[in-house]
Amino acid sequence: MTVPFVDLHRQYLSIKDEVDAAIREVIEESAFIRGRFVTDFEREFARAVGLDRCVSCANGTDALYIAMKSLGLRPGDEVITTAHSWISTSETITQAGGDVVFVDTDATTFTIDPARLEEKITDRTVGIIPVHLYGQPADMDPILQVARAHGLWVIEDCAQAHMAEYNGRKVGTMGQMATFSFYPGKNLGAMGDAGCLVTNDRALADWCELYARHGGKGEHVMEGINSRMDGLQAAILSAKLPRLHGWTARRRQVAAAYDAALTDIEWLVTPHIAEQRTHVYHLYVIRTRYRDALREQLTRAGIGTMVNYPRSLPFYPAYERLGHRPEDFPNAYSAQSEILSLPIFPEISASEIDFVCGTIRAFRP
Ligand SMILES: *Cc1c(COP(=O)(O)O)cnc(C)c1O
Repeated sequence: MTVPFVDLHRQYLSIKDEVDAAIREVIEESAFIRGRFVTDFEREFARAVGLDRCVSCANGTDALYIAMKSLGLRPGDEVITTAHSWISTSETITQAGGDVVFVDTDATTFTIDPARLEEKITDRTVGIIPVHLYGQPADMDPILQVARAHGLWVIEDCAQAHMAEYNGRKVGTMGQMATFSFYPGKNLGAMGDAGCLVTNDRALADWCELYARHGGKGEHVMEGINSRMDGLQAAILSAKLPRLHGWTARRRQVAAAYDAALTDIEWLVTPHIAEQRTHVYHLYVIRTRYRDALREQLTRAGIGTMVNYPRSLPFYPAYERLGHRPEDFPNAYSAQSEILSLPIFPEISASEIDFVCGTIRAFRP
């Protein structure tokens, strides 16, 4: 038996009729760019999150960039974000003209540590981007409290956490704006690149829509960019959205099966879920100081794993200019050599989960 890290084809086969029909409809109507499929999905996704507006765009990275531009980011402004994320979160701060300020994660959830925010705030700080990493919401209440106290905006990076909840509130509804990715492997994935931002602020949504569509069609009221979700992706996402709830439930079942089988292994730590949070398990990430040897054994057994991510952001060459040292971000730094993502996707079978767990249990550190 081999177990892929993720298998998108199984999902396609399970919804082939709907997806094929959606694609055919877009082609029949030549609704490739803009048009009803895009506006329908925007309306459906906004309703699913529980907000008024969704502005679709080309990918989740653009969504972050557009959101920051709409909030008026200027050169020299500082934006605080987590040391542990995909680089989209921080590279767009620079792209939008700001300066990146990293904050360490807490010791157990891989999300930004609110207790370390205050010490990073200067008179140039304008906003905070928490990331709901791996599918678990960041600790939003203290983050929002700090933001309010200092007059900062908050953009939630929800790329990995579609419909996860914090204290009964959906991610994406707590900051001024939030961004989502529909990269194929995300919990709600397109068949190509796609993304969006959501907000209840009508003026911000209008601005983002203009900005992402060349500053307006016909009448260019400003210079913008070209960042659009295409009709095929929108129609595919509309076909898949009704399934998201069931897929998330299945991800949770898979995680529970891993938890049950692995929790008593003393050299390994299963994901910790903080109180009042629901985890949607974009990734199931264990920790062990035997990570590399364990990964090698899993690979030899034909089991796909990933390291998300090989380094914390401050320690990539891209951020050498900031001159950070391991002791600046002790939690993120120690995690980077211990984390291992196990196969998780809604269609993974019980026997595949058993095989993964058996292979891990047979490992002798
Ligand atoms: C995937 C991802 C993004 C970017 O999404 P793309 O659609 O790939 O541009 C941003 N932030 C995080 C945390 C992500 O995982």
